[in-house]
Amino acid sequence: MNIPVLTIVVPCYNEEEVLHETTKQLSEIISQMIKENLITDKSKILYVDDGSRDKTWAIIEELNGVHPFVTGLKLAHNVGHQKALLAGLEVAGKNSDCVISIDADLQDDISVIKEFILKFHEGYEIVYGVRKSRETDTFFKRATAQGFYRFMQKMGVNVVYNHADYRLMSKRALEELSRYKEQNLFLRGIVSLIGLKTTEVYYDRKERFAGESKYPLKKMLSFAFDGITSFSVAPIRFITFIGFLSFLISSCVGIYALVIKFMGHANTGWTSLMVSIWFLGGLLLMSVGLIGEYIGKIYEETKGRPRFAIETDLYTDEMVKSEVGARFNMIRGKKG
Ligand code: UDP
Ligand code: MG
Repeated sequence: MNIPVLTIVVPCYNEEEVLHETTKQLSEIISQMIKENLITDKSKILYVDDGSRDKTWAIIEELNGVHPFVTGLKLAHNVGHQKALLAGLEVAGKNSDCVISIDADLQDDISVIKEFILKFHEGYEIVYGVRKSRETDTFFKRATAQGFYRFMQKMGVNVVYNHADYRLMSKRALEELSRYKEQNLFLRGIVSLIGLKTTEVYYDRKERFAGESKYPLKKMLSFAFDGITSFSVAPIRFITFIGFLSFLISSCVGIYALVIKFMGHANTGWTSLMVSIWFLGGLLLMSVGLIGEYIGKIYEETKGRPRFAIETDLYTDEMVKSEVGARFNMIRGKKG
């Protein structure tokens, strides 16, 4: 097998505190693997600046100037982790044989990157990084995250347990991925739909070494909700079921009420009336809201808007430059 070009895609949103350290650690690993002939020296770290409001982009540009591996992609505005990652994967996929995605805070153990590459050499197209345990996470984060995976699986969304967006994808897998055009992006779910030859690598998850989590509870909940409603109609079916159940119950209660009435001891029935009005009202509102959620998704999909806008693409610029340079040298070589 030829030696592959690797690009490590790192989405960054307000990550000025971690970029220097991340660059140091990742480039050590890259140099090491180049030495061992596992990847070529054209391998890169691609930072995707997701519309940060701090000095993130300035730092990326600075690192790009001094560091042979570092390159960057600046998105025009903040589009969120998933879409930022997708932007990076699309750009990197054109010039790389394999791409690894990892968060900027290096909570995922980078020493297994080498294992990813070894698996790639063995012919795997997708390698998932899977967390062994979550001891370093707070109890709250651990419980919510674990609940999340369980719930997703119950709802019929096929996600790899304890796998975040730390994975290797081959060029071929990325080409398949680019055929999924949906706006409501839940990469973990989509990648497991691709198929191809897949394996898992296990690691321990660490604490964020600087900065704070960009996924507060509110974002996590909406992420989970999006994940479910993008992949499964189980919630709607559940509502139909509840509707059917309450129809059955109210039929029984209705018959009971009629019998009582004809037997002549109808009471004022205030309590039962109030309870059922509020109960059904709540149920109906919730159901309409949930169906609205799906309609909203359809609305977003039909507009077919671009998922991200690129402001600056240092990576492709460099690739073009080096290609033009190589061709120029070739022509000159021929003439001379
Ligand atoms: N991120 C991003 N855009 C956003 C939010 C987050 O690109 O709108 C990036 C962030 O910079 C980090 C990754 O997504 O590299 C994961 O975020 P974080 O580490 O804060 O999430 P957690 O690990 O706490 O779930
Ligand atoms: Mg993190």
